Amino acid sequence: MSKARALSGIQPTSGSFHLGNYLGAVRQWVELQNSHDTYYCVVDLHALTAGVDPAKLRDATLASAAQLIALGIDPEKSTLFIQSHVPAHNQLGWVMECITGFGEASRMTQFKDKSAKSGSDRTVVGLFTYPMLQAADILLYQPQYVPVGEDQRQHIELTRDLAQRFNATYQEIFTIPEGYILKAGAKIFDLQDPTAKMSKSASSTAGLIELLDTAQANTKKIKSATTDDGREVRFDEDKKPGISNLLTIHSAFSGRTIAELESEFDGKGYGDFKSAVAEVVTSHLDPIRERTQELLQDKGELTRLLKIGAEKAALVADETVRKAYDALGLIPRG
Ligand code: ATP
Ligand code: MG
Repeated sequence: MSKARALSGIQPTSGSFHLGNYLGAVRQWVELQNSHDTYYCVVDLHALTAGVDPAKLRDATLASAAQLIALGIDPEKSTLFIQSHVPAHNQLGWVMECITGFGEASRMTQFKDKSAKSGSDRTVVGLFTYPMLQAADILLYQPQYVPVGEDQRQHIELTRDLAQRFNATYQEIFTIPEGYILKAGAKIFDLQDPTAKMSKSASSTAGLIELLDTAQANTKKIKSATTDDGREVRFDEDKKPGISNLLTIHSAFSGRTIAELESEFDGKGYGDFKSAVAEVVTSHLDPIRERTQELLQDKGELTRLLKIGAEKAALVADETVRKAYDALGLIPRG
């Protein structure tokens, strides 16, 4: 029997991924490589919605691909590619826009959050239509699973609705995908504002643990993480969001349960606990940062690997576009 397929993507909206991207998403991508037929992409077209800086985008795109490989995505096992190298994404993206209701798109909370931050004059239409391009990114590859963080749940729901709508109205073309979202680690919070998710595009990087930042900088950020006035290291997301976030992070890296950590730090202060979190995080990130830097020394090799990935991806994606266009009555060129 052939393996089930999984697909996901990450935006090059920053030169470095952060802990949430890794724990909420990429770590599962790596695991799924052994049991699934996996497709992973750096979604550079989506990054245009966050404002365009060509030099930064070029660097961040290659740095994203290098980080994925450093984190364990093996281009021999997975199809690893850059979204804009496969034009089928835009070709199906438009179809998705044409079957999405305006009201339906208006309900996307990520659009509301992101546009509220930048104000309506600086919000581009692409940010509004982003979930439809994302639906196309997914449906092109007919995956059963989409490993993502909690913040993407609503977009996956929309993707499923659009696939079902297309299948029911035109032809059964799309596989209905399921989100693959973990219980723990699916939402890592900002260290300075533990009620907001950690985000690449946050206005300040003070609460972000970036994978490519130095151990000293990350230790400093962990030690100055916002916590409550108490002393007890206890998991309570309502009353102790900062400490709970740090417990989640420690547990994800050390493999110890939250209960074990609570008893280990029973009677010790926040200072000791934060030092332990900093230690476990930086010891895991050091080799990843070094490996990323090595990979970025040979941009020719990275580009070669990404070209092979794009060619493999296009074979699947073009076939889906052909079927979808045919079902819609768009006639072939002949
Ligand atoms: P941006 O702020 O530009 O949207 P981002 O940090 O949200 O960047 P994305 O590229 O949008 O990162 O998302 C990549 C993956 O990381 C997605 O699967 C997303 O759900 C996941 N992810 C993002 N932030 C977190 C977080 N704080 N905790 C867990 N998973 C996250
Ligand atoms: Mg995001």
